[in-house]
Amino acid sequence: MKHGHPNPTEHNSHPHKKDGESSLRLVAWETTRNCNLNCIHCRASATSGPHSGELDTAEAFRLLDQIAEVAKPIIILTGGEPLLRDDIFDIAAYGTKKGLRMVMAPNGTLVTEPIAKKLVDSGIKRISISLDGATRESHDKFRQVDGAYDGALNAMKIARKIGLDFQVNTTITKTNLDQIPLIQELAVEQGPSHFSTGSNRSRKIYRRH
Ligand code: SF4
Repeated sequence: MKHGHPNPTEHNSHPHKKDGESSLRLVAWETTRNCNLNCIHCRASATSGPHSGELDTAEAFRLLDQIAEVAKPIIILTGGEPLLRDDIFDIAAYGTKKGLRMVMAPNGTLVTEPIAKKLVDSGIKRISISLDGATRESHDKFRQVDGAYDGALNAMKIARKIGLDFQVNTTITKTNLDQIPLIQELAVEQGPSHFSTGSNRSRKIYRRH
């Protein structure tokens, strides 16, 4: 997710690109439209699934095969909420096995300690968690689900505890513009490797959560 470089991807996998070498460095893959939140800025129209037309596991593997044939980009598993896919750990592990740097942008509410450990085991190198309000009230209003704020902070706490690299992303909108310094303070207190802000438009290609 999320961002001086606003996604969980600060690692530079191609520092010395040669002529003729693929320039594909980053793929943000919206693995599902299914989501348990209802954020006011969501451009994916995430709704409760299941949805037809999404790649099944075999098709997902094939997609990673094809990507790995032309380049070794960072793959951001996003959504929707990627953790709502039953096969997301298999997908992460498959991409890792193909030599891809796999990262994920969950919204945080579904990250428990066992889930976080499974992320690590599947090769996920970093997750990004969004924080769009300085208080429980403002964040949950933005996400339109009670408990989203607690879920996001809890996910950060778990990630820090088990040593899963995480970054915090803040989408700047008119509704939280006056809170940015406080959000930054709160974010930094959680101990992320990066804190990134941006407008929804500026990061729409690679992040949403
Ligand atoms: S922004 Fe992310 S967490 Fe929010 S509704 Fe959209 S997909 Fe779900």
